[in-house]
Amino acid sequence: MSALLNRLQAGLLALDENQLRRRRRTVETRCAPRTDADGQPVLAFCSNDYLGLASHPALVAALQEGAARYGVGSGASHLISGHGRAHALLEEQLAAFMAPQLEAPRALYFSTGYMANLAVLSALAGRDAEIFSEELNHASLIDGARLSRATVKVYPHRDLEALEGLLKASRAETRLVVTDSVFSMDGDIAPLPQMLALCERYGAWLVVDDAHGFGVLGAHGRGALEHFGLRSEQLVYIGTLGKAAGVSGAFVAAHETVIEWLVQRARTYIYTTAAPPALAHALSASLALIAGSEGAARRLQLNQLIAHFRGALQLKRWCLLPSDTAIQPVCIGASRDALAASAALQRNGLWVPAIRPPTVPRDTARLRVTFSAAHERADMLRLVDALQAAEEESDGR
Ligand code: PMP
Repeated sequence: MSALLNRLQAGLLALDENQLRRRRRTVETRCAPRTDADGQPVLAFCSNDYLGLASHPALVAALQEGAARYGVGSGASHLISGHGRAHALLEEQLAAFMAPQLEAPRALYFSTGYMANLAVLSALAGRDAEIFSEELNHASLIDGARLSRATVKVYPHRDLEALEGLLKASRAETRLVVTDSVFSMDGDIAPLPQMLALCERYGAWLVVDDAHGFGVLGAHGRGALEHFGLRSEQLVYIGTLGKAAGVSGAFVAAHETVIEWLVQRARTYIYTTAAPPALAHALSASLALIAGSEGAARRLQLNQLIAHFRGALQLKRWCLLPSDTAIQPVCIGASRDALAASAALQRNGLWVPAIRPPTVPRDTARLRVTFSAAHERADMLRLVDALQAAEEESDGR
């Protein structure tokens, strides 16, 4: 066998030995709390479909209508011939939607959030720039910072003093402070108002990845910026569209000059086939739902579920992390114990994934519970009972 295959097999064995091998379950049904995974019916608490829009009949109809109108493929990248009317309309709607939070905003639609983050960091920061990156940032921001070739300074989680120290010491002409808004494995929210104030004081830009906030936070679903009532020219906002918006893709909203620069320079925008226009058409329908009364009702349902869950769950050794968002992680510790807890829930017909290193730091393996407006109160109470029973059961091991 070749040396490469040998090395890969040894690596896979090491993953097994450390309980770190991941496996996929195959879902037979639509994305919904009641689903069927690997042939077993389960009640799922693991999707990022926070508003329950991924299977919404109006969006399914919009996607079908989009496919009938525009076909299924775009045929080319945006700068060749793949930029369609549906993409253009979606971008206009997104810019108008985000207008209360940004100065002179324009929006740019990307195929995925991963690509949007790579685009922003690699196009806005060059070798001479400094990127101040929060310790718990998403992998796509970390990769974007590496790709930019800028100097990267990582500051500890939510540590404003450390961030200010780094900004004060910086001599770089371009400075980008880069952060998740809602931390994807912890559920807590970055102190954006204080961070923006620091950016304005030290002439830095604030890049906010609102993957888990867009559609969910703020009275109108405009996300973390609306949640905190922020508005600035020095903001670059990334919202993803495969989570609360229920479809796929992402957008960057920022000052029109920033967006024009991305169109000219962002390689993950330029050198890839444009997403099918039918998806953009479905996303326009999703945005209308998010911004309207149905979105507001779904946000209310979600927030009630979260509050009731936090009030009802009584844990002895495991701990519920301090989060007010739809991400409600139960921290367990060792990967083995988190896997056992996830398996115990599975035996009860509940699907809550165990999250292990390297996604989270060593000894902080956890169950990542996520809620959706599509959950009912009875679903949440069933989860509470099952979590408490799983903790009891783990006591006896
Ligand atoms: N940022 C964060 C914080 C995320 O959680 C994710 C997806 N897990 C992404 C970016 C990437 O978005 P997408 O799935 O659209 O590539």
